[in-house]
Amino acid sequence: MNSSHFKHIRFAGVPIILALIFLSCGQKEPTSSQDYAPRNIEIRYNLGRPHISWNTDEPTYGSVFYGKIPEDYDHFTYESSGLKENHSIKVLDADSGFTYFFRIRVHADDEIVAISSEKTFIPQSAPHEEVLEWTMLNISEGIAIGDCHFIETPNGYRAVIDSGSDDTVRKFYDFCTDRNLQQFNAAIATHLHWDHYGGFISGILDRYSFDSLFIPHSHTSDYSWAYSEILSEANSNDIGFGKIYPNTELEWDPLVNITVLHSGTIGDGDENNSSAVIKFSYGEIDFILTGDAENPAESVILEHYSPALVDCEILKVGHHGRHDATSAEWLNATNPEAALISVDQKSSYDGNSLPSESVIRLLTEQGIDIYRSDKNYPNGESYRYGHVKVITDGEVFEIIIN
Ligand SMILES: [Zn+2]
Repeated sequence: MNSSHFKHIRFAGVPIILALIFLSCGQKEPTSSQDYAPRNIEIRYNLGRPHISWNTDEPTYGSVFYGKIPEDYDHFTYESSGLKENHSIKVLDADSGFTYFFRIRVHADDEIVAISSEKTFIPQSAPHEEVLEWTMLNISEGIAIGDCHFIETPNGYRAVIDSGSDDTVRKFYDFCTDRNLQQFNAAIATHLHWDHYGGFISGILDRYSFDSLFIPHSHTSDYSWAYSEILSEANSNDIGFGKIYPNTELEWDPLVNITVLHSGTIGDGDENNSSAVIKFSYGEIDFILTGDAENPAESVILEHYSPALVDCEILKVGHHGRHDATSAEWLNATNPEAALISVDQKSSYDGNSLPSESVIRLLTEQGIDIYRSDKNYPNGESYRYGHVKVITDGEVFEIIIN
């Protein structure tokens, strides 16, 4: 599926409307263009979850900021390009019973042109019920390059895909402390490069409980020492050690289809191309994690899978946005609405060109919303770094920086 899941909210089954509140836009703050100002802001509760809808006169960019403290919003939702005149979002990640304050901000030509006055909503249902979370941790900001992702399925299966390196491992610890995470079902190292598995052997596997650790079924001969290192770390912590193969399924949760699109070496090429590339599908929302897979791995996948089978809503861009990954063909086939790039702030400016201009251009030309770990994101009226969290109920998804 790749109809715009954020732009056209569908109500599952027969909607039970618990409350219907119309809020006046009468007290709008001054804006530079009244044409863009959100109006007819409406909050509808479907099965206790708030749905916020609004209108603007022109297609534009828009986002919703919300939080428990007035004017100090610690969440913002998917900041989407090409919004239609009538827009709505379903709020997935808010605690029931609390009052949330929110504003809708509208952009045009990268400028804020209108902000609604502050409104409130109160979710009534449990926030994590039947929801899948994928967080791309912001481990790399200003420290070192790396990838680290946390996934929790609707039935509570928890996995860590890639660990960052020894330099970034403290960021993972902080994330776990904030979330009170101690136990995980699975760990996957997408490939045997230090910025993807180094954190596992630099403390993560010692410090937290994991049932099993997986790596691709083969690696390039240059990295046999890394294989020995990670195998030994798993053994010493009594963690089951397994290999994953291409064109197989991972059975983590009956509600989520997980397909290994690629795994293992291509000829005697680059270790990056042995990266496990994994597609997660929950309901109508699909996302693909790519490790550092480059163009040759993408080509192998496209030989095996039709574009419909690799179509996704959210794509983790391969190899930190380097020029040797994310071909036009791969992007045409995957056709995401949002792209996540795990990249180090320094690498963007020290001549390494990460992410590459060519990849950013391709993404931009396709109207794909880009989330980068080296960028500041809006938080109310200010900006900050944060983890990029994707949350979905299988019908729509929300992207939250927190
Ligand atoms: Zn890497």
